[in-house]
Amino acid sequence: MDYVILDLEWNGVYSRRKKKNINEIIDMGAVRLNADTLKVVDRYSMLITPQIGKKLNKHVQELTHISIDELESARHTFTHALSRFNSFSDGCVILTWGTTDILTMMSNCEYFLHDNRPPFLKYYIDLQAYCQSAISMSNPGRQLGLVAVAEMLGIKYEEREMHRALADSELAAKCFKALYNAESVAEYLNSADSEFYKRMTFKNHYITDIDSEDIDKNELYDFCGKCGCKMQVKSRWQSKNRGFRARTVCPNCKVPSYTIVRFKRKFDHVEIKRFTAPVGEDTEKNSANEHSVVTDSD
Ligand SMILES: [Zn+2]
Repeated sequence: MDYVILDLEWNGVYSRRKKKNINEIIDMGAVRLNADTLKVVDRYSMLITPQIGKKLNKHVQELTHISIDELESARHTFTHALSRFNSFSDGCVILTWGTTDILTMMSNCEYFLHDNRPPFLKYYIDLQAYCQSAISMSNPGRQLGLVAVAEMLGIKYEEREMHRALADSELAAKCFKALYNAESVAEYLNSADSEFYKRMTFKNHYITDIDSEDIDKNELYDFCGKCGCKMQVKSRWQSKNRGFRARTVCPNCKVPSYTIVRFKRKFDHVEIKRFTAPVGEDTEKNSANEHSVVTDSD
């Protein structure tokens, strides 16, 4: 299967019909890479005349250098652009830089086609996740931007041309090519099945009920930021600031402290973060003592 790297630009607008904000797609760009040579074999680029919002946000204009006149004169509806893209990407794996573009595409499909599943999406790779793992990011919690990855790889780009869908997809394609490894890519390949859409629409959330089955009470601890000793717990754990807080003291340093442990429910695991700071200091801001661990809840 060939690869299609898709990029979108959108304008945040308020939909009266849906009574909520929606990111309306105004620019779609993509490149198609041959599965074996990874050479660009085709390009797709289309500006879309907005139908929900008739004004462009200032920051969208500044970022993309697209004007509302340009969009008006394009005379392409989202439905038209989508049907052209369906033919362009037929039988290909779709790649986007992070999942936000897919979520935006889903909300536009929902709005215009009354079905949130993009018709072209059969196989998908999150290119950002792939690139981050390929360059062995030490902190997977931090998400790297496309330009940052391009710079790390020494790939040149024109600043002014960035944040246009086609230019961004071309740059993303170069990063993909530079980091390509057939076996690793296969590990990142998803079928766009029901499980995939459940994952895409899952809302991560903090668990604030200490009796929730997502909470393993053995995880309520932290270590002293100074000496590394396990903190002794001196009070009950109470729900506080999206997590649980207790008074703690280091048996070594004797410093009375607060420890906060937060449990964040993600689709297939619970992420745990711990903070400890002496009483009187702000535990929130004391990220020097932060330890992040990931555990499987099931
Ligand atoms: Zn200590």
